Amino acid sequence: MLDIQKIRADFPILSEKVNGKPLVYFDNGATSQKPQIVIDAIATYYQEINANIHRGVHTLSQLATDAYEISRVKIQHHINAKFSHEVLFTSGTTHGINLVTNGFASILKPGDEVIVSALEHHSNIVPWQMLCEKTGATLRVIPMNEEGELIMDAFEALLSEKTKVVTVNHISNALGIINPIKYIIEKAHAVGAAVLIDGAQAVPHLKPDVQDLDCDFYAFSGHKMCGPTGTGILYGKEAWLNKLPPYQGGGEMIKEVTFEKTTYADLPHKFEAGTPNIAGGIVLGTAVDYLNNIGFDNIQKQEEALLEHATKRLLEIEGLKIYGTGKNKASVVSFNIDGIHPYDIGSIIDKLGIAVRTGHHCAQPIMNFFCIPGTIRASFSFYNTIEEIDTMVEAVKKAKTMLS
Ligand SMILES: *Cc1c(COP(=O)(O)O)cnc(C)c1O
Repeated sequence: MLDIQKIRADFPILSEKVNGKPLVYFDNGATSQKPQIVIDAIATYYQEINANIHRGVHTLSQLATDAYEISRVKIQHHINAKFSHEVLFTSGTTHGINLVTNGFASILKPGDEVIVSALEHHSNIVPWQMLCEKTGATLRVIPMNEEGELIMDAFEALLSEKTKVVTVNHISNALGIINPIKYIIEKAHAVGAAVLIDGAQAVPHLKPDVQDLDCDFYAFSGHKMCGPTGTGILYGKEAWLNKLPPYQGGGEMIKEVTFEKTTYADLPHKFEAGTPNIAGGIVLGTAVDYLNNIGFDNIQKQEEALLEHATKRLLEIEGLKIYGTGKNKASVVSFNIDGIHPYDIGSIIDKLGIAVRTGHHCAQPIMNFFCIPGTIRASFSFYNTIEEIDTMVEAVKKAKTMLS
């Protein structure tokens, strides 16, 4: 088992007081906290090797370029991509998804279909809607059931030779449900559709194997996996990345520019226009190392224990309902109490030092499905403890008494 106290000592913010109370940070689904090693790595980059990459012959530029490219290879191995040039640095999941939808604008035709799921984050709905508007393609939606699980029969009924893209999240941010993506990818490929997986909520909890999954694209953010904000990765299969046009034009992404014609750089640079978040890209590699040193088996064991305890303790509260009761779940509990607005509970427990997210979690269609304005979402990380959950449960009970 993990020595949680030792791990907590890696995260300076976890010993902070908020509103005079020890911080209980249960908003990991929105962003994770950062270990000291990640915080230090940002400073070290600027103190020791800051220079622009891929341009200078001078020593610092080479050092920075090497560090950036080493990080890319590290992430390639982490997700088991076949080639490092299939790993594109982005500013986050949103950027990665938009890079793909922009590319498909030159591929889709009226009558083509794009399938998304009822469980998506707005950032994996809106770009596809914009793409459909631009191209005349039709957006289809895989429905969900009361447990918050996607209905596979309905998904298979949507598939046809018109289906050009299927996109789902690996794990739902609003409910924590883990989707059967391997099955979805296989079925989508059987009709010749490309598949993008939104892995934003998966990468803090597990190590995706993109070759085993056989997905065409896999997008995620660095900041939810102990890395800096403004970092992310888009994995894309080489053949797809060669086929899609560049997302942005500028420096870094060209081979040759004349006023008559520009030729584009090879992968991955074709998709990395302009000076990137160099420090962020390098330090994302530090975060990946940190998580691998703890070990994803250990992370999962701790998070499963937290999920089980939180589910059991919260259900002791009368009138409390959990949304997302499917079997396959990550360490997220989304709930409401009868007759009380989630925002009111969130505000009261914040005064007690407890950080949870309240609202629609950028997934309004899910809230509409359950006919609720939002939920209270407690999302746990490996650095959270059973005692913190007990603190939250007592705080929620207190808030309930005050509000009813
Ligand atoms: C957080 C999140 C996103 C968006 O990530 P950004 O870092 O804001 O770009 C997309 N999808 C899911 C499932 C998320 O949880």
